Amino acid sequence: MSKKVIVAGGGLAGLSAAARLAYNGYDVTLLEKAPKLGGRAITIPLKGFNFNFGAHAIYARDKSVLRRYESEIGLEVDWKDFSPSKAYYDLGSYTTLMPATLEGLYRTKILDSQNKWRFAYEVFKTMASIEKGEEGIPIGQYLEKEPPKVRDLLLTIASSNFFTNEPEKIPSPLFFQYYKRLFSTQRAVSYIGGGWQAIVESFSKIIEDHGGKIITKEKVSGIELDGNRISKIIGKETTYTADEYILCIPPKELHQLFADTPYESTFEIYRNYSSTQVVVYDVGLKERIPSPYTYVYQKEKKVFITDISYYDTTCIPEGGQLMQAIAYLNDEEAAANKANEKVADIESVYDKHFPGWRDQLVAKRISKKAVVQEIKCIHDQKLLPVKLYSLDNVYFAGDWCQGEGQLSELSFSSAYEVTNRIMNKTTAS
Ligand SMILES: Cc1cc2nc3c(=O)[nH]c(=O)nc-3n(C[C@H](O)[C@H](O)[C@H](O)COP(=O)(O)OP(=O)(O)OC[C@H]3O[C@@H](n4cnc5c(N)ncnc54)[C@H](O)[C@@H]3O)c2cc1C
Repeated sequence: MSKKVIVAGGGLAGLSAAARLAYNGYDVTLLEKAPKLGGRAITIPLKGFNFNFGAHAIYARDKSVLRRYESEIGLEVDWKDFSPSKAYYDLGSYTTLMPATLEGLYRTKILDSQNKWRFAYEVFKTMASIEKGEEGIPIGQYLEKEPPKVRDLLLTIASSNFFTNEPEKIPSPLFFQYYKRLFSTQRAVSYIGGGWQAIVESFSKIIEDHGGKIITKEKVSGIELDGNRISKIIGKETTYTADEYILCIPPKELHQLFADTPYESTFEIYRNYSSTQVVVYDVGLKERIPSPYTYVYQKEKKVFITDISYYDTTCIPEGGQLMQAIAYLNDEEAAANKANEKVADIESVYDKHFPGWRDQLVAKRISKKAVVQEIKCIHDQKLLPVKLYSLDNVYFAGDWCQGEGQLSELSFSSAYEVTNRIMNKTTAS
């Protein structure tokens, strides 16, 4: 008889874990509290446009764990690669090409020629693992030995990859580990044709085609323990038993689930960590606004705009345009409710680079407090391990868990690691 696995949470982590196990012959049931699957990876149709939460950008797709889901279990992804020649920095008085490629580095005005050599040397040292950072030293401090312009550029790049306006707080080892991977890829940024919806549907299909069950509107509200094992998971009206349990629900929910058990305090710390938050402002336009950019980052305001529909035409009605702007929020700004100021900042960047957008506006979607990553990767915050020594048949996955990359890559990679462990355990027993 095949092993039973319950997966709680139908975001990208839960879906990918459930799909891999169902494909490999496990008896999988996925429980999701919302009516729809996808969690934060959602696609919302509005007046003929498909607004995605997030630009659904996958970084270094040729090194992404998604490649393994594609080749091993038949995940279907319609990749749309980003054009670095259309990515610009807006530095206030001038706009210049991003140094995302060698040509971009040659042409950009963000550095003078001496600093370009220095920057290229930094990239080389990162790729060759000569630079690894130091445990306990944040990257802002670590880079103080660099010329100010080179340091500033490295931090600006980190700002956009980590979705943060405090890039200097990223732990230096994490910074170099991340950029070793990113600098050595041919596919630094790619989007998913059809948006998050396409990937959510592909994972769901794999689950159902392989006999897995998906139950939506089923909030997991409690657990029963038998020593150091979960013996039952409690839903709204049903209890579920399995051999292994994968909890792909955020730290706040985990803390609630383990309340009044000996494990409550374990989850307390993760619940209290701060998350990466942004303001998102998407606009759907009747007609395209001509522009040399598909990506522009306004450095001072820390706002970036992506022309999503340039890459993914499935998200627009014919002739239209869908753009997404994101402004980063640090903890103080989030607490002080600075979202309205960020909305005004974003509109001014749209005005500057896409004049006439207001006249073409058909639909817009503003989210003033979107959680990009549940646990922000800054010093003094740690991601949750995928398995605790003290709990035997329980695993964790999500962008709050230890894994590779950032954002959804953490969800996919932690899910992959968890499924490896369950499959290895079965082989061994
Ligand atoms: C504005 C924005 C932009 C982004 N841009 C990008 C990007 O360009 N690239 C990228 O890689 N990532 C991006 N991300 C991040 C990406 O969306 C997330 O990392 C990813 O979707 C997280 O998936 P997850 O499964 O780990 O968590 P979640 O999506 O949070 O999934 C958790 C799931 O658990 C369910 N749940 C919670 N509690 C319970 C319970 N008690 N019982 C049952 N179910 C429960 C929730 O409903 C949810 O479906 C962005 C996010 C945002 C908000």
